[in-house]
Amino acid sequence: MSARTVHVVGAGLAGLSAAVRLAERGETVVLHEAAKAAGGRCRSYHDSTLDLVIDNGNHLLLSGNRSAMSYLDLVGGRGALEGPGEATFDFADLGTGERWRLRPNEGRLPWWIFVPSRRVPGTSARDYLAPLAILRSRPERTIGEVMRCEGPLWERLWHPVLLAALNTDPRISAAGLAAPVLRETLGAGGRACHPLVATGGLSAAFVDPALAYLTGRGAEIRFGTRLRGIQATEGRVSELAFADGVTEIGPGDAVVLAVPGPVAAGLVPGLAVPEAHRGILNAHFRIAPPPGQPLLLGVVGGLSEWLFAYPDRLSVTVSDGDRWFDEPRDELARRIWQEVATVTGLPAEPMPPWQVVKEKRATFAATPAEAGRRPAPATAYRNLVLAGDWTATGLPATIEGAIRSGEAANSVLQSGVSRSSSSVSKASP
Ligand SMILES: Cc1cc2nc3c(=O)[nH]c(=O)nc-3n(C[C@H](O)[C@H](O)[C@H](O)COP(=O)(O)OP(=O)(O)OC[C@H]3O[C@@H](n4cnc5c(N)ncnc54)[C@H](O)[C@@H]3O)c2cc1C
Repeated sequence: MSARTVHVVGAGLAGLSAAVRLAERGETVVLHEAAKAAGGRCRSYHDSTLDLVIDNGNHLLLSGNRSAMSYLDLVGGRGALEGPGEATFDFADLGTGERWRLRPNEGRLPWWIFVPSRRVPGTSARDYLAPLAILRSRPERTIGEVMRCEGPLWERLWHPVLLAALNTDPRISAAGLAAPVLRETLGAGGRACHPLVATGGLSAAFVDPALAYLTGRGAEIRFGTRLRGIQATEGRVSELAFADGVTEIGPGDAVVLAVPGPVAAGLVPGLAVPEAHRGILNAHFRIAPPPGQPLLLGVVGGLSEWLFAYPDRLSVTVSDGDRWFDEPRDELARRIWQEVATVTGLPAEPMPPWQVVKEKRATFAATPAEAGRRPAPATAYRNLVLAGDWTATGLPATIEGAIRSGEAANSVLQSGVSRSSSSVSKASP
């Protein structure tokens, strides 16, 4: 154990990522979490209506999410992810009834776009080059400004994929946020695009193994401890005021603030964070998937976007879902179930037991304006660093971004550069 203690506040994936990297290096870690459980926006819980353990939202990972994979390898959670073992994406079109399977080849050279059976019906190889404009674009431009956002390939591939990654209408989203996603997944070849799902629940993969890893390394984990205020003296954090008492921060100690952006803005004077957010709608149905149902099915031409087939339920994701949040939950469930029944061949009546979960502030809006408000991890306080999917990771708000932000916070603490001369858009004491 090191002489200093690092207090990590917030046990979402960003905080867990920072904590496990610090513990890996032998640092003394105390993890503080306001809720009774860890995981934040990426967690499992028992839903009493369904009498099932479900996730707060379906989460998709790709094998090219290198920080997520490295985190899972460190804590021992990777075995809890399942996938087809290749870059295979099944799709169904509710409007036309067509089905297809997208199959990028494993290597970097994308020869699959020349093979009609591997690509989207009704498209040509040339259509697949359109997103090169995103890679070449200035980051603050929108996708709608640099790429043609219409036509069969837009409707059937680029729109669903970019919407899933950005959780914001891609047309108004920052090209600079889409570019690294494309570069690190499709641009890296099929071997970076194997879909992966935590079929036994997000907590079993991302949260429980991390907590066990931390406990095994002597970290202290405190639940139900909400940070209410930060006291600073001479350019460093000296006290953390929790709802249940004050924790003194010794001269050599440090703090990783891994709470959501708006919470961090309320704790750190002068901190600019993304302000606009987007919601995600999930509908869960307690029914076993029919034989042969793919783990993940892209659905176009309806309300449903992605259908996840878990052993005990079928779950649908609708990104950028705010426009549906005023609709009655039972009407949403009925409408989504009709679509699920159509694409799975299951009977439309009776509708199985259902649950609709509306996550209102699922991610920050991936627009150029919001991207420009993301702070760097280093702050003007020399012992305070930030982590969270809303910090300047370069990626949209994703598992990969959250985990990378925890790595970045750890790097800042190791290099000791969290002081006023270190970077742009810092919080001021
Ligand atoms: C419905 C949904 C679907 C998603 N789908 C995907 C997907 O398919 N793929 C993907 O990669 N990403 C997806 N995401 C995004 C991903 O879940 C997030 O980017 C990631 O979980 C954010 O982690 P975080 O640690 O930055 O923030 P959070 O998870 O918000 O963690 C912050 C933590 O801080 C705690 N906290 C708050 N205030 C305080 C306080 N004052 N004191 C102490 N603790 C506090 C909170 O309780 C929480 O545990 C999805 C998100 C949602 C909501």
